[in-house]
Amino acid sequence: MNKISLIHEGKAKKVWQTEDQDLIIQEFKDDATAFNNKKKGSIADKGVTNNAISCRLFTMLGENGIPTHFVSQPNDRDMLCKSLDIIKVEVVTRNVAAGSLVRRYGFAEGTVLAKPIVELYLKDDDLDDPLMNDEHAVALGVATCEEVASLKELAAKINALLVPWFAERHLRLVDFKLEFGRHKGEILLGDEISPDTCRFWDAESGEKLDKDRFRLDLGGVEDAYSEVKRRVLGL
Ligand code: UDP
Repeated sequence: MNKISLIHEGKAKKVWQTEDQDLIIQEFKDDATAFNNKKKGSIADKGVTNNAISCRLFTMLGENGIPTHFVSQPNDRDMLCKSLDIIKVEVVTRNVAAGSLVRRYGFAEGTVLAKPIVELYLKDDDLDDPLMNDEHAVALGVATCEEVASLKELAAKINALLVPWFAERHLRLVDFKLEFGRHKGEILLGDEISPDTCRFWDAESGEKLDKDRFRLDLGGVEDAYSEVKRRVLGL
């Protein structure tokens, strides 16, 4: 499958149309951004690392009954995927308090949540991706009531699969962001799952092994991403 034309260039990936109308290629870049583009940089080999991690995770989720856009991994940086009509909702699932949950509600970082929280954000950079509830999503016309229910149910199922899977690899899945899209009448998990979109803490030391190292200038960013890749791929 070949890259025919560039459909979209995002912060971390390029999306290419292939000769098959139903298939696109996600090309993972090394570019890194945070705080809605206010902080920019590059993380060596991030594209290769995040593609490898995402392909492994999408394969595992697919094997466990989650419908995803993943088709195959043609090479190091590319993921062949079913084309999606992206739903403009970012679905964040949280197991442990961190990031905006701490800033917004005053939880102490590291507080284990009594049960996972699923949050919806409007995918709109101009508005800074505002937090919203189900009714906002429906009123804005970004998803139907039924679709919102499906997104939340899928996120909860995916969380229930990912938490023990990462625990076996000595990683604590603190929180993560998912995106979904429509494909031939079905909702599929899209985008990526990687240290760019998840918070991972080492299960023993609590060390942060994700994009927070870049956001907060903690150093050792490349090493953290490689360590997650090593554990995810079982290297
Ligand atoms: N996240 C993401 N993209 C976004 C916003 C959040 O991938 O545009 C991920 C983030 O990496 C974390 C989770 O979603 O794993 C929750 O992020 P949070 O709301 O705490 O925002 P942050 O503190 O990163 O601004």
